[in-house]
Amino acid sequence: MNKFEQLLRVNHIKVTPQRLRIVEELYGHVHMSIDELYQAIKKKFPTISLATIYKNINAMIEKGFILEVQIPNQKSKYELVKPSHSHVVCQTCGKVEDITLDLDTIAHKAANLTHYQIKEEALVLSGLCPACKAG
Ligand SMILES: [Zn+2]
Ligand SMILES: [Zn+2]
Repeated sequence: MNKFEQLLRVNHIKVTPQRLRIVEELYGHVHMSIDELYQAIKKKFPTISLATIYKNINAMIEKGFILEVQIPNQKSKYELVKPSHSHVVCQTCGKVEDITLDLDTIAHKAANLTHYQIKEEALVLSGLCPACKAG
């Protein structure tokens, strides 16, 4: 049993070759849109449909195993669930990177302003990545 199969099993997700492939791709690329995943998975499973990928992704989101990262003006990216973190996004090439920020002060302020109980602290910051800035 490889580590991806083990990951699925400990999260009580039924192991299928397609799901294993999705997890492997996300592990390798960190953040992928549904289209990027579709292109990657199709190489190994030429008959797989976009709907099947959506169905598998959603099943794994429900189990709390995959996270949908919603990005303004861009299609969502998907990633394997990790400790809470923020994202920087390039507005030109769409590259997404993880960043760990201390958001306690912001969360505290937000709670005071809105009277919400803040449970998750994550931000999406966007701009130009070093490559696009240079280009
Ligand atoms: Zn860029
Ligand atoms: Zn991330």
